Amino acid sequence: MPDSRNWFDIVPEHRHRRLSASRRDGIHIDVGGRRLINFASNDYLGLSFDAAVCMGASGAFSESVGSGASRLVSGDDPMLHRLERKLADWKGYEACLIIGSGMLANIGLLQALAGRHTHLFADRLNHASLVDGVRLSGAVSHRYRHLDSAQLARQLRQHPADRRIIVSDGVFSMDGDCADARTLLALAESHDALLLIDDAHGTGTLGADGRGLTALHGIAGHARLIEVGTFGKAFGSYGAFILGTHELIEGLRQRQRTMIYSTALPVALIAASETALALIERGEPVKQLHERLARFKAGVSGMGFMDSDTPIQPLLIGSDQQALTMAAKLADAGFFVPAIRPPTVPDGTARLRFTLSAAHSHEQIDALIAKLKELL
Ligand SMILES: *Cc1c(COP(=O)(O)O)cnc(C)c1O
Repeated sequence: MPDSRNWFDIVPEHRHRRLSASRRDGIHIDVGGRRLINFASNDYLGLSFDAAVCMGASGAFSESVGSGASRLVSGDDPMLHRLERKLADWKGYEACLIIGSGMLANIGLLQALAGRHTHLFADRLNHASLVDGVRLSGAVSHRYRHLDSAQLARQLRQHPADRRIIVSDGVFSMDGDCADARTLLALAESHDALLLIDDAHGTGTLGADGRGLTALHGIAGHARLIEVGTFGKAFGSYGAFILGTHELIEGLRQRQRTMIYSTALPVALIAASETALALIERGEPVKQLHERLARFKAGVSGMGFMDSDTPIQPLLIGSDQQALTMAAKLADAGFFVPAIRPPTVPDGTARLRFTLSAAHSHEQIDALIAKLKELL
C-alpha cells in the first residue's frame, strides 16, 4: 500500500506546475532575486495596492480580522448587505449575494441550481470553477465548441428538459476573447433555459463604465440571466458575488452550501471592495486601463497577438519550449510575463499571456513593445 510519499505517483518530468515565491510591490514583482514589471496579474486597475482601498481595509482590520462564523450563524455583518445592494444597483440586477470566492460561487451556485434532471450546456473553454461546478452538480452535461452558438443551438434542440442552463465565462481567461452574451441570452429565451455568465475578468474592465460584458451587451438584469463577478481581479481584493432576481438570490440563501457552511468574508475585505467599487464608479481607473490597452494594442499590431479587446492579451507561440524561452528573455529584459502551457491550455497552444493594468506607465508599456519588436 502506498503511503503519502508515493500516493500521487507523479514522475518529476510531469511536474508542470511550480509554485515560486514572489513578492509583489505595486506594479513590480520580485522573483528569484530580480525586480520585474508585472504583466502577469489580474489586478487590472491597480486597486490591490491603491492607497484608498488599503485604507478602507486597514480601518476595518484594526477592529477585527476574521468574521468568526458563517453568515447564517453570526458572521452576517451589515456591510455585506450594504455592498450587495450597491453591486446590484451598479450592475443593474434586482439582488446580489456575496460569497467567499469565485471558485466557491460557481461550485455552490451550480450545485444549488442543478440536479440529476437538469441539463447544463457549457462552453469547452470555461474556467475550471465552472467545469467543476457542472461536474459536482450531478446534472447531465453537454459541452459545445468554444463560442460555437450554432452547435449550442443544436444541442438545445436535441436535449429538451424542464430545467436547462447555458453556462459560460464572459471573458475567457486564457484567450481574452468574449462570449456572445446577447446571442446566448436569445438562445436561452427561445429554448426556455437560463443563462449563467461568469464575468470574473470583465467586471471592472469592459465598457466605458467597467460594468462588464452583460452591460456592454445591454442584457444585464434580465430575468433569465444569472451573473457571477469576483473581487479578486479588477477590484483588487478577494471574494465574489452572484447577481440575479430577488427570488433567485433568496433561493441561494436557502440552498447554496458554499455560503451556508463556510466562514463569511472578513469585513476588511468587504470594506476594500466597497472602496474599489466607489473608485470604479468614479471612472478614472477604467479610463486609464482602456488608454493603456489601446497603446499596447497599437504597439503590437502585426506581431501575431490573438484577437482580444480585453486586458488579457495572449501571444500564441505553439511549442512549450519556445514559450519558455521567450518568457525567460522577457524576464532578462525586466518584464514578468508567464508562459502558459498545457494542461492549462490545449496541446500545441503554449502562449505568453500578457495582462495590462491601469497602473502600468506609458514608459513601461513602450519599453515592453520595443523589446517584443526586437525578439519577434
Ligand atoms: C478567477 C476566476 C474565477 C475564480 O475566482 P476566485 O475568486 O479567484 O476564486 C472564477 N471564474 C473565472 C472565469 C475566473 O477567471
